[in-house]
Amino acid sequence: MSTIAFIGTGNMGGPMARNLLKAGHAVAAFDLSAPMLEPVLAAGASKAANGNEAAKEADVVITMLPAGQHVRSVYLENGILSVAKRGALLIDSSTIDIDSARAVHAAAEKAGFDFLDAPVSGGVGGAEGGTLTFMCGGSEAAFERAKPLLEKMGKRVVLAGGAGAGQAAKICNNMLLAISMIGTCEAFVLAEKLGLDPRKLFDIASTSSGQCWSLTTYCPVPGPVPTAPSNRDYTGGFATALMLKDLKLALAAAQNSGATTPLGAEAAQLYSLFAAKGNSNLDFSGIIRMLRGEL
Ligand code: NAD
Repeated sequence: MSTIAFIGTGNMGGPMARNLLKAGHAVAAFDLSAPMLEPVLAAGASKAANGNEAAKEADVVITMLPAGQHVRSVYLENGILSVAKRGALLIDSSTIDIDSARAVHAAAEKAGFDFLDAPVSGGVGGAEGGTLTFMCGGSEAAFERAKPLLEKMGKRVVLAGGAGAGQAAKICNNMLLAISMIGTCEAFVLAEKLGLDPRKLFDIASTSSGQCWSLTTYCPVPGPVPTAPSNRDYTGGFATALMLKDLKLALAAAQNSGATTPLGAEAAQLYSLFAAKGNSNLDFSGIIRMLRGEL
């Protein structure tokens, strides 16, 4: 069993660290917020005074932080790369900008460490249930070392490519999801105006060429898919604030790489507006209300 440093035990990192403890690993945990750290300590982790303290004795370091600036500050400039044990495996599961991911990859490689960007999808429910999907970027060797451990926290662990490819896969997927959700919502809004029963639209489109995940798994109108957040007043799903974060990362990446993504840009504008109307915490499928003109 490995000794693991877990840095960033928030909504996602907390349950992920607890799954590693459940699997029998020793975990040294650190978070700037004492209340976020508490449940992980209660589950058996040891408390580290700071990130470097957690990392210095660890075989594996996992970080789960809000954004690129936090990841850079934790790894670079007298951070983890300056204290980690020789041969330690470093994994960042935060969703961050590609440039930061590549900068930390390059610095880790220079310092002689295996590093993976390994963002996740599956939300807090997936973190708690150990059913996350990990999208990894890095070397095959680093991936093979990380896989058995990531499988303790997720049900699907994929190597997407080299440095930054995990982040690229995550933001491309979520940009597509945002666009397909808005398209699905627009189809239901038009159906309502035309007097077409939403259930009929669902039955027909879900077995026709309009079929997509936003429709068949996450239907934005209540009824056809009982597990979708639309049946719970758009609570308990994928928060609009997080979708907006991922869309902004996708737009920045598109700008930096010269990709043309007009629908991604439009989706970001629509989600910004939806969030600005006080809906940041609502599930992203709730945007149907704004498109109906209810908000
Ligand atoms: P969160 O805000 O709940 O947790 C982040 C934690 O990092 C906080 O507890 C914060 O105190 C801590 N932190 C910040 N700077 C730190 C530092 N320098 N050292 C130690 N701890 C520090 O966020 P979350 O929901 O757990 O998300 C974490 C990451 O996972 C984000 O990048 C997010 O985009 C991504 N993500 C979240 C979800 C989700 O559904 N919540 C889903 C997929 C991906």
